[in-house]
Amino acid sequence: MRKIVLSGLAVMLSYGLYAQKTYIHAGKLIDVKNKKTLSEQTIIVENDKILSVVSGYSTPGSEDSEIDLKNSTVMPGLMDMHVHIEGETSPTRYVDGFRNNEADIAFNSIGFAEKTIMAGFTTVRDLGGSGVNIALRNAINSGKVTGPRIYTAGKSIAPTGGHADPTNGVRRDLMGDPGPDQGVINGPYDARKAVRQAVKYGSDLIKVTATGGVLSVARDGSAPQFQQDELDAIVATAKDFGIMVAAHAHGDEGMQRAIRAGVTSIEHGTMMSDETMDLMKERGTWLVPTITAGMSAAAFAEIPGYYPEVVAQKAKRIGAQIQETFGKAYKKGVKIAFGTDAGVFAHGDNYREFIYMAEVGMPNLDVIQSATLTNAQFLGIEDKLGSIEAGKLADIIAVAGDPEQDISVMKNVVFVMKEGKVVKD
Ligand SMILES: [Zn+2]
Repeated sequence: MRKIVLSGLAVMLSYGLYAQKTYIHAGKLIDVKNKKTLSEQTIIVENDKILSVVSGYSTPGSEDSEIDLKNSTVMPGLMDMHVHIEGETSPTRYVDGFRNNEADIAFNSIGFAEKTIMAGFTTVRDLGGSGVNIALRNAINSGKVTGPRIYTAGKSIAPTGGHADPTNGVRRDLMGDPGPDQGVINGPYDARKAVRQAVKYGSDLIKVTATGGVLSVARDGSAPQFQQDELDAIVATAKDFGIMVAAHAHGDEGMQRAIRAGVTSIEHGTMMSDETMDLMKERGTWLVPTITAGMSAAAFAEIPGYYPEVVAQKAKRIGAQIQETFGKAYKKGVKIAFGTDAGVFAHGDNYREFIYMAEVGMPNLDVIQSATLTNAQFLGIEDKLGSIEAGKLADIIAVAGDPEQDISVMKNVVFVMKEGKVVKD
């Protein structure tokens, strides 16, 4: 009996008790809290967490492993607060909707999730798809699929004919009459049901389309879509569940209604007035800029036949304004959460947002802070993620080059670790 106990102890000693550590030697390390680039640092990772960060290159023990990033700049895993992981822009996108079943969407989304994490984004918010994004989140969480940690809205909520009505532009006998179960609401009762239904299906947050949008087959891209009582009911119901509401909005009136209802964030914010910026500051509402989406849509609209004509017209008008509005809102002191709307352009090209934000006056390290620490605060997970500090989850990436000097190097992601596991090396 005693012998068995002793040999069991020996096995535990050799395999179990000594946890192997990973020593990451970082030539440069971005301290996102103090917005400083440090040189020659060692990050010690144990299991899924950061054990400590020390100055200089400390030597690993014989059981430990070493990762050499002495020629790179290391920073926390990036976070994109606006993606659509289920799909990607294509000239056949509008026809694909009639061909693809949920299984097709699911298989496609695996590739998009991989491209996203390989680009250094270890956390994303999915702002609406068919609902397959919920299953994808679960598959990633259980380790079956490689991809970023996903907070998903499931399916967006819109009124009949609104930007997220899935039957816009469809032949009438195929349209049916979608209701709260499909995210289409009319009136506060439907609004409550749609939110409760979304939570029941497994959504982490609610997305509403508070104004018209660019890519839907509908003439208007900016008019308000909900009446105040509908938005109020959506936000009040979401608050009961303790979840956030994100509001897509291009036009000013729809934005103001959403802000008054108490949404957490305005997405795009294209035609935002000074008055609305003040209201956002007063109410603590965030702006998620998605400049890359505006730029991309405007560029695609120049390719004949890429979009249906009604979409192309809107894309040309609305697209390019987003960058200018972001610059104004940032200078006015509106809270900014980094987000791109990836899917409107190719997944994996999320880095472009860094360049567009810096172009209109946000300092490089502030842009990186917005995509890391600020977004962790926005999601309420800054105790676990958003910076490279002892006790936090080991979401760590590296780029070749120095982004404090040249923000375009955010394109060159050479290393990705998520929760202590190397995804790209
Ligand atoms: Zn979007």
